[in-house]
Amino acid sequence: MPHDLPKAYDPTAIEDHWAEYWVREKLFAQPTPNEEDRLDGKSSFVILLPPPNVTGRLHMGHMLNQTEMDILTRWRRMSGSRALWLPGTDHAGIATQMMVERQLTEEGKKRQELGREAFVERVWEWKRHYGGAILDQMRRLGASVDWDREYFTMDERLSVAVREAFVRLYEQGLIYRGAYIVNWCPRCQTAISDLEVIYDEHKGHLWEIKYPVIGDDRKGTGEFLTVATTRPETMLGDVAVAVHPADERYKHLHGKKLRLPLMGREIPVITDDWVSPDFGTGAVKVTPAHDPNDFALGQRHHLPSISIMDDTAHIKAEGGKYAGLDRVLARKHVVADLEELGLLAGIKDHIHNVGHCDRCKTVVEPRLSLQWFIKIQPLADKAIAAVKEGHIKFTPEMYAKTYLNWMENIHDWCISRQLWWGHRIPAWQCATCHKLTVAREDPSKCAHCGSEKIEQSTDVLDTWFSSGLLPVSVFGWPNITPENRADFDAFYPTSLLVTGFDILFFWVARMIMLGCWFSTDVPMKDGSARSLADSVPFREVYIHALVRDANREKMSKTKGNVIDPIEIVKQYGTDAVRFTLASMASPGTDIAFNVARTEGYRAFANKIWNAARFMFMNIDRAADAGITVDKALLGAMPAAGPDAPLETRWIIAELNATAEKVDQALVNYRFDDAANTIYQFFWGSFCDWYLEIAKLSLDFSEGADKVRTRDALTTLVGAFEASLRLLSPFMPFLTEEIWHAVYDGNPPAKSIALTRFPQGASSESDKTAIEEMTLLQGLIVEIRALRKEIGVEEKAVVPIELRIDPQLKAAIGGNLAIIERLARVSEVQFVNEFSAGLAKHSTPQFEVAVVYERKIDVATERAKLGKDIANQEKIIANADRQLNNPGFLAKAPEHIVEGLKKQRNEAQQLLDKLRRDLHSLPE
Ligand SMILES: [Zn+2]
Ligand SMILES: [Zn+2]
Repeated sequence: MPHDLPKAYDPTAIEDHWAEYWVREKLFAQPTPNEEDRLDGKSSFVILLPPPNVTGRLHMGHMLNQTEMDILTRWRRMSGSRALWLPGTDHAGIATQMMVERQLTEEGKKRQELGREAFVERVWEWKRHYGGAILDQMRRLGASVDWDREYFTMDERLSVAVREAFVRLYEQGLIYRGAYIVNWCPRCQTAISDLEVIYDEHKGHLWEIKYPVIGDDRKGTGEFLTVATTRPETMLGDVAVAVHPADERYKHLHGKKLRLPLMGREIPVITDDWVSPDFGTGAVKVTPAHDPNDFALGQRHHLPSISIMDDTAHIKAEGGKYAGLDRVLARKHVVADLEELGLLAGIKDHIHNVGHCDRCKTVVEPRLSLQWFIKIQPLADKAIAAVKEGHIKFTPEMYAKTYLNWMENIHDWCISRQLWWGHRIPAWQCATCHKLTVAREDPSKCAHCGSEKIEQSTDVLDTWFSSGLLPVSVFGWPNITPENRADFDAFYPTSLLVTGFDILFFWVARMIMLGCWFSTDVPMKDGSARSLADSVPFREVYIHALVRDANREKMSKTKGNVIDPIEIVKQYGTDAVRFTLASMASPGTDIAFNVARTEGYRAFANKIWNAARFMFMNIDRAADAGITVDKALLGAMPAAGPDAPLETRWIIAELNATAEKVDQALVNYRFDDAANTIYQFFWGSFCDWYLEIAKLSLDFSEGADKVRTRDALTTLVGAFEASLRLLSPFMPFLTEEIWHAVYDGNPPAKSIALTRFPQGASSESDKTAIEEMTLLQGLIVEIRALRKEIGVEEKAVVPIELRIDPQLKAAIGGNLAIIERLARVSEVQFVNEFSAGLAKHSTPQFEVAVVYERKIDVATERAKLGKDIANQEKIIANADRQLNNPGFLAKAPEHIVEGLKKQRNEAQQLLDKLRRDLHSLPE
């Protein structure tokens, strides 16, 4: 029979199959809507996958990010939206180039030997072989993305957008080229953005160097002006020494000249308010080509900039006799020479922040170079307005403030990188008239003088320039023509961006700037102007938290606590891992990933599996008895009339309330509330209570009430099927497998993911069912507790005495069978006075006693107590061994030690009780 599920739930056996099926059948493809589609009243739910680097491998952060996106997309899709989740990868300039360079190094080659063209071809080759790895992982994890729309940021059509954006900004006067101090990585040999520089505290020195003062006769006066610096080698490029104008110590030197040691040239003493008289000696050397503050100072005082280092941080010819030395070696030589000349006044220990390249950890060298910049101001203003006016909403809200604060203090954006892999800047320099030609099509001659001696800039664009354009470029911008704009009209602005805090500035902010800037020029479908509200790249941003290890430590390779999601998935199945992440994900709260929880959710999946098997077994038994379940009723929310049995009315009421709660939780990004609500419903209400009660009505014997059996089974199957749809966005594989089985391989849709999400309504009429059931559950729980306390054997069926409010009596009286079955009760005696000597439990609504006289077999009891005592003694001995071991105590985390002490304490109390029990047994 097709619905014969294997006995044991084995995720590996079902997940590969469905993952492959979803991709093959293109189940989540969202084609360009046509005229007819546009009239169907469906809203769009559009979400871009933050494109992972093409070099990437899936880590726990991705897994959380993608689980959240998949839950939301599946839920919106099932709730009737035209849902589109759009995947792709980023060409990741520096990371990818480094990867291929490393490969070349292993072969004993260098990229310079290959030449630019061959190297770029080599990177494409690498991309074709290895570039899809992370998306393959996504496929296996069942991400419900539209694979037909997969992009790569270097694709032809996206490159057209990059070029158009550059040319347009240039034409608008918003892109310029200039010499500026940038953060230079000598290893990667490129400028990197401020965001890519990581600062570490570093123990260094402050060198004090004496600069001889020159008199009017151009000879030394014998006086010195002492400067302090952390990078003495940069003095080779000094062009002045600056002091504060009000600094009394140096007033007599205003307008004088100094002789720059080691280089011999004359440099002026200048005054500037920026100099702090309290730092070092109060006199600072000015090196405009190698320090951002000095650069600004140089600009103010019209000083020249002398660059003394090349791309690899070796001293250039401008550094005199030090030319050719690496910066580290140059420093040693400079200091030694100064010492020999008697010009080193002192060396002090000094702690300061040193910038490192985020990619390769090399110390960054501030350096003057010719770069391309975006004039940020008109773009930033718009991006600020978009958030301030509420067109983009952040969750958690505090990130709006972080964003605005950054955006209000933003500098011009350096968009050029000295790499070979990336979008090459479409600007050509003329050798004849020295002017630039920036063009949409590769030019053959200079636009200004017609000379054919033009050469394209060797720089490429910052990777974030292309990824910042994604929300517009993936939907066809800049080619938005009347025939060609259906995607743009249907899907822009996108609905939501789900991402981590780490790329709020890198990516989120840039998408907002570029998205607002370029889409404004695209009129609305009806020809009207596009407002700022419709220009934003997304209407909401959800910033998700970090996944930490079980001890709340940040995962890091050096700590060795990194959890590989693929390994965990292999062990427990994708569904259990997804559910773990969902059950802990809420706005602003980091997740302490604990495998023990995944084990728990694996058990949850197992529980659902077993419930399904129980259902199918009953469907088969019913078929044998000539009873069939009408499957035409499935797919909607099951309903029950007022005369239906209590458990039927109750489970349907619970299902409605659950669906409503889950909906609301997902609207608020409370994945944890949604997951926990479903968990409690499925495990608690459905399996532990409803199924147990329903068993009473599933009577297939000769002469049983067939209508009652059929009705019970119909509700069971209906509620189960609806529950599967509720669970589907969270556990897509398990629910897909069981759902297909429900329909015996003949389902009404290709996938449960294409059916309707249960629309809950907690209507008033269900209130009585919930109240009655709550009362019943309370009573059963109390009876079970009493039975345990007074030692009634598991299987024994015993009478109870019950005193209850007469108004509530009817609810109990009508459902005696349920109490009898679930609490193993032989008879319910309603009393006003209890028989003497009975142990009782009372609640505000009732008081209950179990009537039972315990018969004990002394020998058996003695043996049992003996065994229990031995067990507890063993636990205590184990705990003592560890707690008395200084080595263990030194290493174990505090919560482990505390836990052990608690465990020992509990065992001791239990042991004392067992010993007393043994003592009190009759001889
Ligand atoms: Zn680097
Ligand atoms: Zn020219």
